[in-house]
Amino acid sequence: MNYLSTRGAGAGERHTFSNILLGGLASDGGLYLPAEYPRVTADELTRWRTLPYADLAFEILSKFSDDIPAEDLRMLTRRTYTAATYCNVRDDESAEQITPLKTLGVENGAPLSLLELSNGPTLAFKDMAMQLIGNLFEYALEKNGETLNILGATSGDTGSAAEYAMRGKKGIRVFMLSPHLKMSAFQTAQMYSLQDPNIFNLAVEGNFDNCQDIVKAVSNDHAFKAKYKIGTVNSINWARVVAQVVYYFKGYFAATRSNDQRVSFTVPSGNFGNVCAGHIARMMGLPIEKLVVATNENDVLDEFFRTGIYRVRKAAETYHTSSPSMDISKASNFERFVFDLLGRDPARVLQLFRDVEEKGGFDLAASGDFARVQEFGFVSGRSSHADRVEAIRDVFERYDTMIDTHTADGLKVAREHLQPGIPMIVLETAQPIKFGETIREALLREPERPAAFSGIESLPQRFEVLPADVQRVKDFVVAHTGA
Ligand SMILES: *Cc1c(COP(=O)(O)O)cnc(C)c1O
Repeated sequence: MNYLSTRGAGAGERHTFSNILLGGLASDGGLYLPAEYPRVTADELTRWRTLPYADLAFEILSKFSDDIPAEDLRMLTRRTYTAATYCNVRDDESAEQITPLKTLGVENGAPLSLLELSNGPTLAFKDMAMQLIGNLFEYALEKNGETLNILGATSGDTGSAAEYAMRGKKGIRVFMLSPHLKMSAFQTAQMYSLQDPNIFNLAVEGNFDNCQDIVKAVSNDHAFKAKYKIGTVNSINWARVVAQVVYYFKGYFAATRSNDQRVSFTVPSGNFGNVCAGHIARMMGLPIEKLVVATNENDVLDEFFRTGIYRVRKAAETYHTSSPSMDISKASNFERFVFDLLGRDPARVLQLFRDVEEKGGFDLAASGDFARVQEFGFVSGRSSHADRVEAIRDVFERYDTMIDTHTADGLKVAREHLQPGIPMIVLETAQPIKFGETIREALLREPERPAAFSGIESLPQRFEVLPADVQRVKDFVVAHTGA
């Protein structure tokens, strides 16, 4: 399997899965994609239907990472997808399934269900891929005798998923910047209660943007970055995307009885990483009818799928909503889909994303390419805070199930795209406890709290308060890398 950049750099060069595993963008600023998508045969689909999650993950990943010896990859997927790691299931479910499918009911003739992706250590779907990344990184670094210092900024979700994936991993340290005193007590406790010596929580006296700016400044200091082996684990990482392909297959098998059936998925979307994996599953041959992109008030993607116009937002136009993990001004994985939509023409992709930088967007409405969005099965919708509150209340009353605000975005939009006879699977991306304020508003009661998290707020916390100052952060990294 060879990988290429969506913008065409290094065409004809060889990039294996292992080559791109630890990196981010390609040298020309594009994103990596496989030179061609592996196809799944009818026989494989039949055989995969009954596989445990870890072995299904092995089968799918091995099609994209044929440079990793099969026995090593099998060991890594079995180590990652265990019932002990994805144990935060509801009372009546089996953690063995890793991503249980919860049936809600039939609406407008369509069976409606939730695919639970948030039973991992930080109760959000990012654990699905990040836990694998932790094991893959450790494996690759050990093989080459290297080390990596991951530097990141978080307002909650991504940072904790990264820390729980990297804790205790050999050759890896994590320096995670978060805004001091600005996260919820639950989120703060989740991150700061980690006592692992390779995890450093830096509480920055400022807001999330200050944290992000510091990470950017450090990453732009190429000499520092190289000397101290600084890396990231952001959502454009290819391995994260491909790890997410697995649960589309798992969800499909759980919702159908034969491979002649088709299903639709609704995906609460921000950076387009999750639904990009759905697109890849479909390109591999999984019988997907529709991929429904659900956004909140930050509707960059919904606007594109309705109109053909991709228009990134300025900071002042980006709303802070009650589904904060979808509050984006641009969708960093979207370029992967645009590449396929344009028939894999890197010169045009390069031009369009130059337009994004220079003019703030592009318009495909008039071009024949936009009509092809339908061929790829994409539709979309958006929700408001009131919609989410209503969806949380309705699902609780009707189906006795508590959902979080992001899943509520998905559910609201899914209902606009139901088709009789076609199962609709809404991806559940977080558990309600993470967004308790809106649960209390909608249901006038406390969110459900998985047993493992009782009293987490009173555990001892380990963190370092630093001013919003690039040099102070660099000094901290230098002092703690032993380099
Ligand atoms: C990250 C996240 C999303 C958005 O996923 P993308 O891959 O960025 O589209 C949705 N919901 C939750 C809870 C998340 O943490």
